[in-house]
Amino acid sequence: MEKKAEHVVIVGAGLGGLTAALALLRQGFRVTVLEQAPALGEVGAGVQLSANATRVLSLIGLDEVVAASGAQPTDKEIRLWSTGQTWQLFDLGAASVQRYGHTYAMFHRADLHKALENALRSLAPGAIRLNCRCESVDLSGPRPSVLLSNGERVAGDLIVGADGVHSRVRRAIVGADQPVFSGMHAWRGVIPTNRLPGHLRKPAGVNWVGPGRHVIHYPLRRCELTNFVGIVEGSNWEVESWTQQGSLDACLGDFKGWHEDVQTMIRAVDVHFKWALMVREPIERWSSGCVTLLGDAAHPTLPFLAQGAAMALEDGYVLARALAAHSGDVPAALSAYESARVERTAKVVRGSNGNAARFHNPKLANAQGAAQYIEDQWAPDKV
Ligand code: FAD
Repeated sequence: MEKKAEHVVIVGAGLGGLTAALALLRQGFRVTVLEQAPALGEVGAGVQLSANATRVLSLIGLDEVVAASGAQPTDKEIRLWSTGQTWQLFDLGAASVQRYGHTYAMFHRADLHKALENALRSLAPGAIRLNCRCESVDLSGPRPSVLLSNGERVAGDLIVGADGVHSRVRRAIVGADQPVFSGMHAWRGVIPTNRLPGHLRKPAGVNWVGPGRHVIHYPLRRCELTNFVGIVEGSNWEVESWTQQGSLDACLGDFKGWHEDVQTMIRAVDVHFKWALMVREPIERWSSGCVTLLGDAAHPTLPFLAQGAAMALEDGYVLARALAAHSGDVPAALSAYESARVERTAKVVRGSNGNAARFHNPKLANAQGAAQYIEDQWAPDKV
């Protein structure tokens, strides 16, 4: 039976939830976003958005945000952990825009989050409700509802779980499965770029590869800041939190023996955040009745293709488009949404998992073998 969606309730005001809310509002739906946090804000870290994601920002009317707050890199480089030898991988500047039609942009997460929040508040001032923690979702009534921790129930014609890797909404759909620790932790930190020597200030995305670990760094906020991420395999650190801090010494210890440029960056980081990386096997069913998922709630993705947030943005836009195309008929729209998203996102999850072995390959231990390995792995036809 056709069930119309007029009021969509989104659980989670992360990058995915806010994008979905904006896309839905622009298609004429009424939206409420329930966020557990007492105030909105993103952590001090970067997020790279490839052209598929900046295209979504353009489609929801945020072109100027990309131009104003993103840093636009020119290149992507691979560097070898021990010698620092550099390979030019591909163009992320003009040639990339010409090929994909949209910019590759690198954001401070807080800037992007704020821009989405401002756009949403200007379209629908009361849409975001803070201090609203979802405990469970009830699918049994004529309309699904969210039970909040204060006892209130919020019903909608459609409920969307955009509540991240530990999603409560997901439980209502697939049961209480838990994300699994990947055996890797990430160091994250932001560096004022003027602390770095000139050759580390290039507007490029750089990926250092080495046995059992890798490092990514790229510019943020018109190159005023540099984002640093270091991934370490063989970890027993299972705390998954954006705010958990480690120490400078522990971070240096994880990259002992790595090239001086990496040591320089680690020393220049303001605060060394440490985060366990969690994985889940992709699922094939994201919806039950009038409840569905998007972003990390549906498909948490290791950050090794820089596509987790990009997929969350795409999900939000495609969901709104499906609802509009099916005149708000929820079952038909959710079926179209899943058909468009499940296979694509599973491919990204598996591709990201596969990149761990590629970036951390034992062949990288020896400089001579490593050069050959890099040339084989990152030949233009394999990128
Ligand atoms: P989240 O950002 O986790 O947002 C979930 C929201 O829901 C939060 O606001 C949370 O407070 C709220 N919430 C949670 N539970 C509840 C509840 N019970 N009730 C109410 N609200 C709730 N992706 C890229 O595309 N490019 C990158 O460069 C990139 N770099 C990354 C680097 C690292 C080190 C890591 C770990 C990830 C990276 N990612 C990247 C992935 C990206 O960060 C995530 O995929 C993305 O943030 C997911 O967005 P989301 O909106 O689905 O979930």
